[in-house]
Amino acid sequence: MLLFTPGPTPVPESVRAAMAKETIHHRTPEFTEIFLDTRNRLKRLLKMQEALMIASTGTGAMEACVTNLCKKKALVINAGKFGERFKKICEAFGIDYLELRYDWDTPAEAADVVEALKKDPDIDAVFVQICESSGGLRHPVEEIAKAAKGVKEEITVVADGITAVGVEPIDTSNIDALITGSQKALMLPPGLSMIGLSDLAVDKIGKGRGFYLNMAAELKKQREGTTAYTAATTLIIGLNEVLSQIESMGIEQLYEDTKKRSEATREALKAIGLNIYPKSPAAAMSAVIDEDAEKIRKLLKTRYDVNLAGGQESLKGRLFRINHMGFIKPYEACWVVNAIELALADIGRITYRGKAAEVFSGRYFQD
Ligand SMILES: *Cc1c(COP(=O)(O)O)cnc(C)c1O
Repeated sequence: MLLFTPGPTPVPESVRAAMAKETIHHRTPEFTEIFLDTRNRLKRLLKMQEALMIASTGTGAMEACVTNLCKKKALVINAGKFGERFKKICEAFGIDYLELRYDWDTPAEAADVVEALKKDPDIDAVFVQICESSGGLRHPVEEIAKAAKGVKEEITVVADGITAVGVEPIDTSNIDALITGSQKALMLPPGLSMIGLSDLAVDKIGKGRGFYLNMAAELKKQREGTTAYTAATTLIIGLNEVLSQIESMGIEQLYEDTKKRSEATREALKAIGLNIYPKSPAAAMSAVIDEDAEKIRKLLKTRYDVNLAGGQESLKGRLFRINHMGFIKPYEACWVVNAIELALADIGRITYRGKAAEVFSGRYFQD
């Protein structure tokens, strides 16, 4: 079965092998060496001054950023489930927030952020997804971050890059916290989250807040090459392997391959009459809006060995999402669009002509 869900993504064999070695103790010179090496690789990937690794899924890192980096009031951009999650975290901690809501197919606008910041001087932190995975939408985060800093230099910009880091280049010059997680573009099992931090964010953390997700406590320890509590040793060893592979292939190459795969996929889908859902699609995934989404997904799974993700809430049964993150072979991505064309023919919508595979291959290999 081809796992083509936008998280979890397949874990490469070499990474599984690296994680299969004997467990080592986390308070040892051997592990500290691996930890510090991984930390340096991570900082290079994130292009941030500081980096933290936390034993939690991505949501833990989102929570840590809300509690440690918002001191007064948050501005939350909500164009899907993950934007909504920032809001729910604020509510859980009684943190005051203002929400900017958009339809799930519509990117946020920098002008709206500027207006909100000017109106409400209490806001000290902005929370936004780079790719909002619910609808496969790319927010113009770099533009939003720059505009926010234009209003107030000391504003903290927190970007959830869980489906953007390792997918596409991100200009981090105005971003203060960049969140990612293990099970998406970093091709690891779930359970490790990572946060890149700017100098401004590090200053703002101060003594930190909370206990397990106290960033000050983690920063102090992680700079020394260890973690405040037991490190997720196996996942960190896996991350080291993934990052060293990305470095040896060249991060630019990974970005380029991902972009080409996602563009070729979308052209192939359009060529067989399908509609891409978001107005500004992210490179990480392709989301298709279609009334037959569930029928198509079921056929893909039972007849063609392809596992795609569906939609949530109002998009349940009307959306399917195809992953582009990670080291994906073009022949696998080509099979996915071909299988979708076969499924459309199975339900009598079109005649199968091999059009999707033709368009994908032409775009991927011949352009
Ligand atoms: C997957 C994801 C998360 C985090 O989800 P976890 O299940 O906690 O790992 C957060 N934001 C985005 C955009 C995601 O795609």
